[in-house]
Amino acid sequence: MNVSIGVKTDVGRVREGNEDSFLVDEPLFVVADGMGGHLAGDVASSTAVEIISSNSATASGANPETLAELIRAANAAIWEKASTDPQLRGMGTTCTLVLLDGSRAHIAHVGDSRAYLLRDGRLEQLTEDHTLVARMVKEGRLRAEDAEHHPQRSIITRALGVDSEVDVDLSVLELQPGDRLLICSDGLSSMIDHSAIQEALADHEDPQAAADDLVARANEAGGEDNVTVVVIEVSDRPRSDTAPRAGVTAAPATEESSDVSDTKSRRRWVRPLVVLLVVLGLLAGGAYFLVQHLRTNYWYVGVNEDNLVTIYQGRSEDLFGVDLDEEVEVSGLELSALPASLRDNVEEGRTADSRAEADDIVADLRARAQDLEDVRNQKDGDAPATGDGGANGGTDNDGTGDAKGSNGKN
Ligand code: CA
Repeated sequence: MNVSIGVKTDVGRVREGNEDSFLVDEPLFVVADGMGGHLAGDVASSTAVEIISSNSATASGANPETLAELIRAANAAIWEKASTDPQLRGMGTTCTLVLLDGSRAHIAHVGDSRAYLLRDGRLEQLTEDHTLVARMVKEGRLRAEDAEHHPQRSIITRALGVDSEVDVDLSVLELQPGDRLLICSDGLSSMIDHSAIQEALADHEDPQAAADDLVARANEAGGEDNVTVVVIEVSDRPRSDTAPRAGVTAAPATEESSDVSDTKSRRRWVRPLVVLLVVLGLLAGGAYFLVQHLRTNYWYVGVNEDNLVTIYQGRSEDLFGVDLDEEVEVSGLELSALPASLRDNVEEGRTADSRAEADDIVADLRARAQDLEDVRNQKDGDAPATGDGGANGGTDNDGTGDAKGSNGKN
């Protein structure tokens, strides 16, 4: 079968950096969506793509075990970086990979990026999101229509780099001529709905035009996140001349990428001192804007010194010893009132994309505390109270205890 490709990545309309990375290297295609803050998210997703790309050269054959091995190697590399560099602690990335093998597509997947199939004009999602809300829907605890706007929809339960081991979903699909596969980051699927994706993908003969249209629609809908799309069309027609040449193409590295700055500084080493001073000035200026950016564009819900749930603006971690957060509202809700399984997560700080989202998180925590209180009161009515141990006594069945990637994605 012949393959034509369309690919596009875009920072969106709100974010300042693009933490998505992708690989288009026929027959291998990958989309990775990094998390963990501006710098770390980019490192996580680009590491995934680099490791998969370099290891695929020596991988033997297109079978599920090979694919799982590629992803596990990427996981190990990101985990290693995250555990050794404090600046990168907690980073992770999604990874959705498609490997074409004759008339088959092998799919490997971790996280909430997605693979879709468009066949005969109908769009089908091929991957299952590894998110808290998807699990709640599956377990019948949340309606699918409420999941789309749930304040915790971006909490993912599986990601590369957050643990030394990772479970990989694997599947295989028999392709038919005319099929289109789409791999995308959640910056597409969280901004436009299923029918809009189907329409954009089906409307254009040229896969690149379809990719451009998908990204344009995500931006028109608000562009709240980085968006990356890879459109793969298989046909029995000869390859179209307009198709981009297959090749390794990673999403553009941001200026913080260590490779880029290493090269720059080496090149400038031989220049006069004045150039060095200019560079230092620029770095200082850049650092100032970075600090301002981190202080103003992020929120999180954490715990203050009195163990009360509190909304902060900024980031919980320091940058070169500079404090990045400011207390904006103390809720009055005590940490000890929360179900035990949520406390660690709140103590670490739950990131939010906006002040409104932080308020939603606090409201949600308040509701959880109330539920727990109700259960405790009920128990007190049935039997003598057994002290605080009731908090762990099976009342918390929300399953967040194993949400390893529970960092809100940035
Ligand atoms: Ca994203």
